[in-house]
Amino acid sequence: MDLHSVRQQFPALQQQINDHPLIYLDNAATSQKPEAVIKTVEQFYRTQNANVHRGAHQLSERATSAFEAARSTVKQFLNATSEQEIIWTRGTTEGINLIAQSYARPLLQPNDEILLTELEHHANIVPWQIVAQQTGALIRVVPIHDNGDLNLQRFSELLNEKTRIVSLTHISNALGTINPVAGLVRQAKAIGATVVIDGAQAVPHLEVDVQRLGCDFYLFSGHKLFAPTGIGVLYGRKPLLEAMPPWQSGGEMINHVSFSSGTTYNGLPFKFEAGTPNISGALGLAEAIRFLTALDRKALARHERALMNKAVDLCAMIPGFKRIGSPTACASILSFQLESHHQQDVGLMLDQQGIALRTGHHCAMPLMARLGLPGTIRASFCFYNTLDEVERLAQALEQISQGGS
Ligand code: PLP
Repeated sequence: MDLHSVRQQFPALQQQINDHPLIYLDNAATSQKPEAVIKTVEQFYRTQNANVHRGAHQLSERATSAFEAARSTVKQFLNATSEQEIIWTRGTTEGINLIAQSYARPLLQPNDEILLTELEHHANIVPWQIVAQQTGALIRVVPIHDNGDLNLQRFSELLNEKTRIVSLTHISNALGTINPVAGLVRQAKAIGATVVIDGAQAVPHLEVDVQRLGCDFYLFSGHKLFAPTGIGVLYGRKPLLEAMPPWQSGGEMINHVSFSSGTTYNGLPFKFEAGTPNISGALGLAEAIRFLTALDRKALARHERALMNKAVDLCAMIPGFKRIGSPTACASILSFQLESHHQQDVGLMLDQQGIALRTGHHCAMPLMARLGLPGTIRASFCFYNTLDEVERLAQALEQISQGGS
């Protein structure tokens, strides 16, 4: 595969920042978009724009069939059993809130347990804290080892007959830890818990098959998968979704509305899609999936591993470089500190050289507290990054480390 020509398809990567070619290493925050996705969104507004599922006219029919075809693309991408299991959301955050309020809130009794891990993003913590307050349920947290691996023994020990929900990330956004989710799902299902997987960081790097994983819910955000912001996916097993009450309400999610006899709700998946959806976003997401799946994903993964290995090797030689966590199975995320330099200063100095990465707590404050750190510097790689860019990162860090703070 010609990775150079793949990279050429991302216009945002072809620009200068602070008089340097942009080196975009903030892919865990959001990915850049290929030309095909940008064109799809543009074409929608140029030739297809209409509201879906309501119009009596041609344009609306066209928009509706493109919108529903996009749902089928997602269904195939995740290997769900039906389009009814694919709910459009704004992103992972909205998906977890929907599950917490529609699935968990009616289910949970005082002292029931929700099992989370120390690796979670705030999006997979706060919605559970709120539903725990609402119901009297308790949150239990699986600890990690110092290298950022989940403590699998403690995971097994913490599962018990009171565990109703296990919600964990597939890949940690802060350390890159890849959790062995298939085995964890099996254990959690064996004691009767419902399993939610936060796949926000996983879908760009791993091939995900929800049936093989056996999870009950799986969530991701389009914008980390080369699609626009404001569109995401909640996969849920149909029997669970069918039994759940609507969450947000209004137009589109109803069957019949009456002041005298009340309201009846639409079937799946529309029951959970109140209001006008992000139509162009859904089309853009389907195009992003077509773009990604047309590439050799194994070759992409090999390239991402090569980027990561080179970054680890080169950075290890930099005085004061300290990697934070080195998980056994790690996605393309390198979290580190540079001794005697504040992480934000490092971020600003790198930005002056056109190198974009993230510093701070990465929306994972409990993880930072566990590590005893205010935050880290995080370089997150994507297949469109080059080995040359990794070298330039290492050179820039070397310069900063020698120049003092
Ligand atoms: N979960 C993980 C692991 C993430 O990395 C993120 C975003 O950084 C989220 C959830 C939240 O995603 P979004 O802000 O797109 O809803």
